[in-house]
Amino acid sequence: MSDCLFCKIAAGEIPCNKVYEDEDFLAFHDIHPKAPTHVLVIPKFHLETLADATEQDTALLGLMLDRVRHIADAELHLDAGYRVVINVREGGGQEVFHIHVHILGGKKLPF
Ligand code: AMP
Ligand code: ZN
Repeated sequence: MSDCLFCKIAAGEIPCNKVYEDEDFLAFHDIHPKAPTHVLVIPKFHLETLADATEQDTALLGLMLDRVRHIADAELHLDAGYRVVINVREGGGQEVFHIHVHILGGKKLPF
């Protein structure tokens, strides 16, 4: 989607502090971190929210969680643990309408 911030980051049109990239996903540091480690994982494919996913997105969603696991382990070394968050629509606190997973870690997180 041409006016989507995360599509522009995925296309390299807007810079990011990259952590990981493959053919289908990109991970980069959140610009306003809410924990010592705060990384966003996005698919390069535009899907607005988890609520908009259909059965056709099942493989993408499964792969995305697998990449989250890999990035938290191999790239971020969050051995003590981490939190995975997906905000869904305005009521869930979503601000960027391109599905993304937050990885938060680096300290004991409050509830
Ligand atoms: P959400 O509230 O789940 O939509 O999360 C969007 C996240 O994107 C927020 O935590 C923002 O701090 C982050 N963010 C917004 N713009 C950028 C950017 N240009 N680079 C990195 N992170 C960003
Ligand atoms: Zn997008």
